[in-house]
Amino acid sequence: MHDNDNDNGNVDESKVDLPAIEKAVKQILQAVGEDTQREGLRDTPARVARMYAELFAGLHEDPARYLDVDFTEKYDEMVVLRDIPFYSMCEHHLLPFMGHAHVAYIPRGKVVGLSKLARIVEAFARRPQLQERLTLQIAEMLMTNLDAKGVGVIIEATHTCMTIRGVKKPGAVMVTSTMLGIFRSNFATRTEAVNLLTGGNR
Ligand code: ZN
Repeated sequence: MHDNDNDNGNVDESKVDLPAIEKAVKQILQAVGEDTQREGLRDTPARVARMYAELFAGLHEDPARYLDVDFTEKYDEMVVLRDIPFYSMCEHHLLPFMGHAHVAYIPRGKVVGLSKLARIVEAFARRPQLQERLTLQIAEMLMTNLDAKGVGVIIEATHTCMTIRGVKKPGAVMVTSTMLGIFRSNFATRTEAVNLLTGGNR
């Protein structure tokens, strides 16, 4: 049915109403003046439906599950993971925005595997999103579920809704940050976190 476009990862498509998306995509194509029967477009609605199931899979996932299997450690210094790549969809335009998340936290006895941090970023990214909310959701989840002393999240991203339409500012990078706990209350700790998170670039 599709031209070698069936790799949808481990996405559970049963959670999504694929026929409804197909119908809607077909209507959009007709509404902009396309012929939905021409060869190149015939399978597009079905393809887009499966793509949306993948891009929005985070809606059907609770990122907290990645923090169930944390380790208990004596370590209580800052843990930093920089340059976690992510792709998300701007909820205002349904266009992609993408970039990197940088995450730091100071544990209070519980640490999490680095791959789990990346999973959490992805689970929150794979839904209609705003960069500001993405930043906050990642930080709050770590703060609450790890009972961390402090969490800092910085996200740098480019928004295609700014580059291909509207103000057309390619290359503009949006930076958002959320600092919680000791990262908010202690200036020295916050400064250290920001330096580590940004590689001392600012
Ligand atoms: Zn947008």
